[in-house]
Amino acid sequence: MSTHLPNPDVTRRTFMAGAASAIVATALVGCGGEVPVEVTPSTSDIPDPVIDVSGASEVARDIMIIPDRGKTFVPNIGIIGGRDSVLIVDTGMGQENAEKVLDYAVKYARGRKLYLTTTHFHPEHAYGADIITKDATYLANKAQIEDLHRKGQPYLTMFRHDFGAAVAKRLDKVQLVDPTITYDRDYDLDLGGRVVQLRATGQAHTMGDQLVIVPDVKMVFTGDLVETHQFAIFPWYPPSDVDVSGVRWREVMRKAIADAPSIVVPGHGNVGDISRLTDTHGYLDELIQETWKQTAEGKSVEDIVPAVKELMFQRHPEWIGREWVEKGIRCVHTEAPKTASR
Ligand SMILES: [Zn+2]
Repeated sequence: MSTHLPNPDVTRRTFMAGAASAIVATALVGCGGEVPVEVTPSTSDIPDPVIDVSGASEVARDIMIIPDRGKTFVPNIGIIGGRDSVLIVDTGMGQENAEKVLDYAVKYARGRKLYLTTTHFHPEHAYGADIITKDATYLANKAQIEDLHRKGQPYLTMFRHDFGAAVAKRLDKVQLVDPTITYDRDYDLDLGGRVVQLRATGQAHTMGDQLVIVPDVKMVFTGDLVETHQFAIFPWYPPSDVDVSGVRWREVMRKAIADAPSIVVPGHGNVGDISRLTDTHGYLDELIQETWKQTAEGKSVEDIVPAVKELMFQRHPEWIGREWVEKGIRCVHTEAPKTASR
C-alpha cells in the first residue's frame, strides 16, 4: 500500500442524506482520519450494485449502453461495435457483474474481436477487468495504470471493508490486472469501419481519466469527468489524496466542448447532449472564479467555503452531490494564482 494513502482501518465515510450516489462513496475512500466526517449509519451499507443488462439500448448505430439505472456503484457501460471488433467501456464492480457484461458483449459481438477500456481506475469502472480480459484485449493510458498501481489495492481493501456486505461480496475475488496495451496520451482503435479515439486527459477527477470518443456519431464517454445534474466529484482529502485538479478539469471540459459532440455518456446518470459538458464546465468555472475572487479579496478559506457553497446551491438548486462543493472549493483555493492575497 502506498504510504500516501490512509490506512483503510481508519478511513471514515461521509454520507449525506439524499446524496448516496455511486461516486460519493467511490471518492470517499481517499478520506483520511483527519477529515471531518458526518456518518449516517443507516445509509452506510450500499445496496447491492448489480448490473442489469436487460435495460441496454442502442443510443447510436452499433453502440449499446447498459445504463446505471440510478444505482449506487453502477456505472454506465458502453459497447461500441465496428465491422471487425467490439469495444467495452468500463466493467461494472466485481467479477459477477463483469461476467454479465462480458456475456452480453460476447453475444452482441457475434464473433467479432473484443476490446476493453476503462474511463478511470475507480472500482465500479475498472474492478471487473480480470474477468473481461479473459476474452478481451485491455487498453488504458499510462497515468491510469499508475493510479491503479498506487491506489488500486488500497481502494479494493477499503471497499471490501467499508461499504457493507453487498459491496464486499461483489469484490470478494477481484484481482487487479494490467492492460494488454498501454498508451501515453492518444490511441486510435480501429474496430473496422469505425475508429474510436482513446484520449488521456491528464489530471482532472483522477490522474488517469480518459475520454472515449466515437467521431462518426459525435459521441463521447466521459467516465466521472461528467455526471448528470450533479456537482462535480472532488476526491479532495489532503494530505492523503490531492490528485484532483479543478483547473485542469475545467480545461479538459473546455476542450471536450470544442469537439462539439452530440451524444455524451456520463459516468453516472442519464445520457445527454453537449449540455452535459457545458453544465460541468460552467459549474467548475463558477467554482473557480468565485473562490479565486474571494481569495483575492483577502478572505480566509474558512469564510470562502460557506459563501461559495451557498452561491453554488442557489445556482443549481436541483443538483445532487452537495457535499462535494466544499471539497471543490478547498481544492481550487489551493490552485488560486500565487499573486492573490490569502
Ligand atoms: Zn470516479
